Amino acid sequence: MPKIKQLSSHEAQKIAAGEVVERPANIVKELIENSVDAGATRISVYIEDAGKQLIRVVDNGSGMDEQDAVICFDRHATSKITHVEQLELINTFGFRGEALASIAAVSQITLITKQENTHEGTRVIINAQVVQEKSTVACITGTDISINNLFFNVPARKKFLKTTQTEWRAIVLLFNAFFFDYPHIHFTLFSDGKQVHNCPAATNIKNRSLQMWESHISQHSIELHKVEKDGFSIEGIISDHQEYRYDRSGIYLFVNKRWVSNQHLVSALIKGYAHVIPEGRYPIAVISVTIPADCIDINIHPRKQEIKFLHPRVVEQALQNAIKTTLEKNLSQQIKKEVTLQPFMAERVSFVEQQRDFKPYNFNNFFVPQPEPVLTQFSSNLDQIPFPVRPEPVEGCEQPVVSFDKLRTSGLEVNAENINSDTHTQMPLINDQHDSVSVENYRLIGQYKKTYLLIEKEEGLFLVDQHAAHERILYELFSARFNEVATIQLLFPHVVTLSPQDMQLILPHCDIFSTNGIVVEQCASDQLIVQAVPVHLKEQSLSDLIKLVIGWISEYQSLDQAEFKKRINEKLHAQMACKAAVKAGDVLTEEKMVQLLHDLEKTANRFSCPHGRPTGWLLTINEIEKKFKRVL
Ligand code: ADP
Ligand code: MG
Repeated sequence: MPKIKQLSSHEAQKIAAGEVVERPANIVKELIENSVDAGATRISVYIEDAGKQLIRVVDNGSGMDEQDAVICFDRHATSKITHVEQLELINTFGFRGEALASIAAVSQITLITKQENTHEGTRVIINAQVVQEKSTVACITGTDISINNLFFNVPARKKFLKTTQTEWRAIVLLFNAFFFDYPHIHFTLFSDGKQVHNCPAATNIKNRSLQMWESHISQHSIELHKVEKDGFSIEGIISDHQEYRYDRSGIYLFVNKRWVSNQHLVSALIKGYAHVIPEGRYPIAVISVTIPADCIDINIHPRKQEIKFLHPRVVEQALQNAIKTTLEKNLSQQIKKEVTLQPFMAERVSFVEQQRDFKPYNFNNFFVPQPEPVLTQFSSNLDQIPFPVRPEPVEGCEQPVVSFDKLRTSGLEVNAENINSDTHTQMPLINDQHDSVSVENYRLIGQYKKTYLLIEKEEGLFLVDQHAAHERILYELFSARFNEVATIQLLFPHVVTLSPQDMQLILPHCDIFSTNGIVVEQCASDQLIVQAVPVHLKEQSLSDLIKLVIGWISEYQSLDQAEFKKRINEKLHAQMACKAAVKAGDVLTEEKMVQLLHDLEKTANRFSCPHGRPTGWLLTINEIEKKFKRVL
């Protein structure tokens, strides 16, 4: 007996509909898109039981005439293409003329619609694609479409719907996407009779975000530094370095005004935040990319949200750079302007790893006598102030491997004394050009609380966190200009004993060390020997460092090779920089402070340390004068 049967076209349609209409959120998307296409400036969405009972979208768009109100439910019925050639462009984002037909196949629909210059509207009731009623009604211009009892005739699909909560969440995410994508539209969302959102039209995306985001997020949102070139542009609004989430749900990407998902683009966005927000945290961002349609790869399921670019790297790099530049500019402006002392300082300490001496300044305590002088004023007996970060001599460290001449030509200001005794003066002078707060034209007042450098500048009092600043300088040195770092051979090499598991884990990855100037070899079945290290690392416990690296290897081993190397290197550089940098509490000589400021001036990403803390900020003269009521 033959097994193959021909399905009736009605049955086939029901199955096909399921491909397009997987869940209520898909329908909400199609309906809102139709309203947008119809030129609506006001769209209200009513949901019941997360769309399983009712999805109703009411708009004030162009509406349909009596005939179209029925034809629109036929397959391939569309008013949106007139030429076959247009198909290619439109296909970039979706089939045409399929949505209402597919929805109609699996639900019960009531459509009420009226065009502007007519007195009467049309009402159509459709049950599983069969027109039940068509009548003339009095109504206002626009379209009011209700989708009832979704999948009432396809129980298998109905069974696969997720919980009410999950389906509702998908609808909310979708609503948010439209909300950001079309700021000029007044959107309202109701769920089970209650109004969830009512957002009138906004003039721009920034004002739009104020309607949706909680105020603390809005306060920390900044407009993206716009990229524009040859029909390609990127714009948007993003959270600054102080606001972040534990998941990616705050990230919305739009390409040519369509909400899309593209993991590579999201990664590029997150990369733009590298070392500005803590690892494992995600920004909040609404990004809109405009790109010529022929630069999008259309060989991808058109109904899905995914999108591929023909030249993805170009788009990703442009986004990453735009984020970096925006964050840097923002931080620089914060340092330059209107820094309000307490809130600004207090918020930063949340992810600070060294909080010890950190307290916002309390003006009420201004006249309380301090038990010890906290401000080191430079005097003629400068030399008597010890420099406490002088490292303990490493077990018999020898001459640097790199010759002085080589160091000089690579831009390092070194002399024999500071190579052997003090690693912290070996900061290179590079010529990165950055539009930023300059620490040039300053007068160094001194060190406050053995932690902050106080600098008198034309614009006000500038404070630099010595640890954060030095950490950034060294991080950039290790990660970007490692060839400028001198290494030393240890006279008494350091032996590290490891468990067999750790040994197994680390041996294939010893190149991580060698590429970072740490020469490590296996000397016994359970031992490694460290022969040479970068000069900055002399005082650091090498066993601890190696054990940390083992931890990172096990954490990241599932990543692909390039990402794995990148992550481990970033971690290692941050760790080396943190350990080698001067600490809060270290007394610095004037010479060291000047050197630090000088090097900071020349360092990329100098506004924050690798953990995202600011390296410095400005108390403007205006703020000072306001506090003393010299100005209002
Ligand atoms: P498509 O949007 O791809 O054309 P649809 O099945 O979504 O296909 O819609 C079919 C047609 O119905 C549209 O082309 C449009 O002419 C009409 N239509 C649907 N919704 C609306 C609406 N809200 N306002 C005006 N016309 C609409
Ligand atoms: Mg449509």
